[in-house]
Amino acid sequence: MDVLIQTPMQQQQQATNKPIRSLEEAIERCQALGMRVSRQRRYILELLWQAGEHLCAREIYHRLNQEGKEIGHTSVYQNLEALSSQGIIECVERCDGRLYGHISDAHSHVNCLDTNQIIDVQVELPPDLIAQIEAETGVTISEYRIDFYGYKKEG
Ligand SMILES: [Zn+2]
Repeated sequence: MDVLIQTPMQQQQQATNKPIRSLEEAIERCQALGMRVSRQRRYILELLWQAGEHLCAREIYHRLNQEGKEIGHTSVYQNLEALSSQGIIECVERCDGRLYGHISDAHSHVNCLDTNQIIDVQVELPPDLIAQIEAETGVTISEYRIDFYGYKKEG
């Protein structure tokens, strides 16, 4: 049996690839990546984890200031950019702009076409379907994100 010897670098990469499951883990990840956890950065992470929605920068700015947490427009934009580029939060590109969410690892979305809302869902495809896609394309699937579209049912 082969013994897998990991270098410290590989170990660190594994630690920073692990899914983030809580606000505390998000803050720990910032620290592990050497990012400063400023008051403003913490405000944004707290809001995203509490809201559980996908929000645009303007909405994040608006909500934080309504809660009495002082933060400027520029700071909101810069922090969202830094957090999403480091994979700590999710960034969804839409034709009307970017939205940010708290789940950073692969997940699927249900897009509600009448309310414009995006709902996070964890979808697991049957292994034989994945095997079939791999056989058809010659690509080993490591993760997937599915976009569902539909309308909210009345009542
Ligand atoms: Zn999402």
